[in-house]
Amino acid sequence: MSKFDKKINGYFIDPAIFTFKFVKACDVCICSGECCYYGVYTDLKEHDLIMKMKDRVIKSMDHSQTTDTNKWFEQPEEDEDFESGIAVGTELHNGKCVFLDRQGFCTLQKIAMEDGEFKWKYKPLYCILFPLVIYEGAITIDDEHLDRMHYCNKPENQDSTIFDSCTEELEYLLGKDGYKELCGYREEYLISLSEKNKPNGTKKK
Ligand code: SF4
Ligand code: SF4
Repeated sequence: MSKFDKKINGYFIDPAIFTFKFVKACDVCICSGECCYYGVYTDLKEHDLIMKMKDRVIKSMDHSQTTDTNKWFEQPEEDEDFESGIAVGTELHNGKCVFLDRQGFCTLQKIAMEDGEFKWKYKPLYCILFPLVIYEGAITIDDEHLDRMHYCNKPENQDSTIFDSCTEELEYLLGKDGYKELCGYREEYLISLSEKNKPNGTKKK
């Protein structure tokens, strides 16, 4: 059972995503894609797809990456926050995810764009979602990972909220109708929050 009340398209919603501060947009020219320095857990199905197209991936890798496919993934492990129930972590090479190139771009996204496909066609869901994450069935904030970031986690750079910054990601996950429902829930939540924060009525003399 989740501690959150609202559920949309099978996911509980942590309302903290509406107010949590974040940068307006990612810019790997500034951050060098540092959220990819630690690798990611992919779903077994995503792992299989990447391995199926390994030759294409290798073609777009640079010298900072390893083309030895035995070094791309960790051992699979059970995890119910993944569609297939099995998670497979990506390995690190040269201090970054094996799929991150030296310019800070994800090779899986790069090849989709080079081939005229949808940009996230091969990208693992948890990479698309960060700084959001699905944890115990809820869409919430990956604050543990976010705490390691030197650009997007600095208050002086946070001129937006995770919700506003991740419109495309949330729409991708929830679909258009689900996203619309999320916007409605946000309105309700923000109104209830401002009611709660109103000072108690002060007596006039
Ligand atoms: S989430 Fe942070 S570290 Fe990752 S690409 Fe965006 S700004 Fe950079
Ligand atoms: S798969 Fe791509 S987006 Fe995900 S951590 Fe690795 S380089 Fe980053």
